[in-house]
Amino acid sequence: MLNTLREEFINATTQFIIVDRSLTILESDNCLFTLETGASITDFHPFFYSLESLFEEDEKEQKFFCIQIEVLGKTYFIDIKSYVKQDSIVLILQDLTDHYKSVHQIKQVRNESVINFNVAQEINQQLEVQSQFKNKFLANVSHEIRTPLNSVLGFLSILENTDVNREQLDLIAIIKNSSENLVTILEDLMDLTKIEEGRLDINNKRFYFKEFIQRLGSIYTLSAQNKRLDFVYEYGDNLPNFLVGDQLRLNQILVNLLENAIKYTHKGCVELKVSTKSQNARRIPVTFEVKDTGVGIPNDKIQTIFDNFSQVEPRGLFGGSGLGLSIVKQLTDLMDSELEVESVEGEGSSFKFTIQMGVSHNQKKDKKKDKEKKKKNKNKGKKPRILLGEDIEVNQLLIMRLFADHGEYSLDIAKHGEQVLEFLDKHPYDLIIMDITMPVMDGLDCANTIRQLPNKKVNKIPIIALTANTSEEQQEEAKEAGMNAYLTKPLDSELLFSTIDRLLNRYKRKDKTTPTQSATDVVE
Ligand code: ADP
Repeated sequence: MLNTLREEFINATTQFIIVDRSLTILESDNCLFTLETGASITDFHPFFYSLESLFEEDEKEQKFFCIQIEVLGKTYFIDIKSYVKQDSIVLILQDLTDHYKSVHQIKQVRNESVINFNVAQEINQQLEVQSQFKNKFLANVSHEIRTPLNSVLGFLSILENTDVNREQLDLIAIIKNSSENLVTILEDLMDLTKIEEGRLDINNKRFYFKEFIQRLGSIYTLSAQNKRLDFVYEYGDNLPNFLVGDQLRLNQILVNLLENAIKYTHKGCVELKVSTKSQNARRIPVTFEVKDTGVGIPNDKIQTIFDNFSQVEPRGLFGGSGLGLSIVKQLTDLMDSELEVESVEGEGSSFKFTIQMGVSHNQKKDKKKDKEKKKKNKNKGKKPRILLGEDIEVNQLLIMRLFADHGEYSLDIAKHGEQVLEFLDKHPYDLIIMDITMPVMDGLDCANTIRQLPNKKVNKIPIIALTANTSEEQQEEAKEAGMNAYLTKPLDSELLFSTIDRLLNRYKRKDKTTPTQSATDVVE
């Protein structure tokens, strides 16, 4: 039985051939291929010419692997064993077509997966380079646009307080609005880049939550009134006054949702509801809901509204950039919250999310601010002297104008860091405002030098950085250089003066109580 099986197997896979020195076929069992005796084996396949060497080099035996042979349109892969026996050569052909095909396939799959992996790696590297370029490009463009925008917005504020008529005021309002939109777009783009790079952190701090929500309530009551809409605002009775959370990012989320609610509603009302279900003493889930009776969002578009630059309506119809909701979604994700949307086309929309917030154990208002106010009144009559380091003329002019209108400080201007040091040597100053990018000596080097000066009165002067660069790296560098506050352009004049007041008061306090303490401890 075994013998029969072996014979069947060998017959189906192996052929024996005998050829003479001139490669003429003497015998063939024709188990695989039909070969005629008397013909040359090289007619069957040119490969067999290589057998001549068997006699020439006196080689007795040779093996050839995976020889591809086409016979009657079919491809075979065979191994050939040959050896010399007296004056003839014995050839044993073994058909291994199935075996080689499967090996070939495996190899092919392996090669393809290696190639795919390499291609994917290459694409990833290219994407990374592209993304780094995009982020750098955005940061630079944002910086370059912010600088001229700073003067546009600043001079517009000054212009609207001059003797202009109603029509001119309306035009100023339009330019101001467009410029502010541009600032928002720049900020949105910067935030998206930061989120993408994983550089945007959630910064939880204690803040007066109730006042924050009330302020949003009053701002949007006014906006709603301007569009003849009702604004309903609810603050849960069981919510504490002070909570711990990221006020800046929460504000960004709510402002985006409220702006949209008002923009996409033409009649009816907009609601802002803040509530909690829990009375837990340490952490509570706070639910925010912004609801409107506006145009609504078609069902098939609800999933796409969170994509960058996505807008349901034709571009330009309602203004906006299509970035707002994308940021809202990413910020709520960062806060471990899920943004829920419900909307019915033609009836309205609701955006809702819940975040975990800490309950501050101190629920009392800071008395510090009131004290600072009193102190400020006391100091009236004596004008603090401020030194500005700024190289761009139009920015110098703008700040000069703002200080002239404000009237409570006297201002000197230096064109670069080295001139700031010269001025400090000659006159007593109470505070320095400094651009970071300046010729001759930049703001960081200048601040560093000031902090190293031996004169204790000078080396502790509060320094405010005023720059168009919004990057956290530069903010960190400013802090390391000893700057006490970091304000970005376009300049918010209210923020500038409140920062000056605060730093002047803090500096005076420190000067009295701890004369050796450096003024470099806080950068906001
Ligand atoms: P935009 O700057 O266009 O408002 P957003 O990212 O904030 O960009 O919103 C994306 C799109 O989602 C909007 O263009 C609008 O079509 C739709 N949308 C957002 N909020 C509302 C809303 N409250 N009611 C109706 N549609 C909305």
